[in-house]
Amino acid sequence: MHLLIVEDEVKLGDYLRKGLVESGFSVDLARDGIEGLAMARSGNYDVMVLDVMLPRMDGFQLLAGLRGSRPMPVLMLTARDAVEDRVRGLEAGADDYLPKPFAFSELLARVRALLRRGPMQEVSRYVLGDLQLDLTTRRAVRAGTRLDLTAKEFSLLALLLRRQGQVLSRAVLADQVWGMNFDSETNVVDVAVRRLRRKMDDPFPDKLLHTVRGMGYVLEQRASQA
Ligand code: CA
Repeated sequence: MHLLIVEDEVKLGDYLRKGLVESGFSVDLARDGIEGLAMARSGNYDVMVLDVMLPRMDGFQLLAGLRGSRPMPVLMLTARDAVEDRVRGLEAGADDYLPKPFAFSELLARVRALLRRGPMQEVSRYVLGDLQLDLTTRRAVRAGTRLDLTAKEFSLLALLLRRQGQVLSRAVLADQVWGMNFDSETNVVDVAVRRLRRKMDDPFPDKLLHTVRGMGYVLEQRASQA
């Protein structure tokens, strides 16, 4: 297993490399974002451990630079209690995050969990509770009932399902579904969410699409609201 660590703190980087090598991994270490991006693009890594705060290019920019070409799962190292970093990291495509400071055993467990997921695969079907979405046939079904969605509503639901459990901001939804820069003057995202909700949530007792005030929207199952 081949790991890439991108960490500018010399002592921490060396310590992580040593520990991971001793745990049986082959490890490369980059000391800044530019170097990390170049290595991530050219190397064939199974996992990347990526610090957020890096010289020359931060972890978010690095992830953005990899967009579309990244075949490996990413574990982000964030500042302690920086919820914003965590959300931003997950939105940028990180698969997991670990707040600093952390125990090495915790990092090792996270890395192994990411590796167990196996290579990233293109999924053609998403499921959440009684909701199913088939990307090949473009069918959305809830509790056996086919949902009549527009193309944008389908794309929106697919994104929310793919990132289920993660809060997605209006800016991310606007960018990924409509390909536009989010402008707080427009309510295109909220209107689409409302229409989608009317079709996929309102007729059913358990609600899946939730508003997170001040942050955005999340699709997830919550304890029975009956
Ligand atoms: Ca750092």
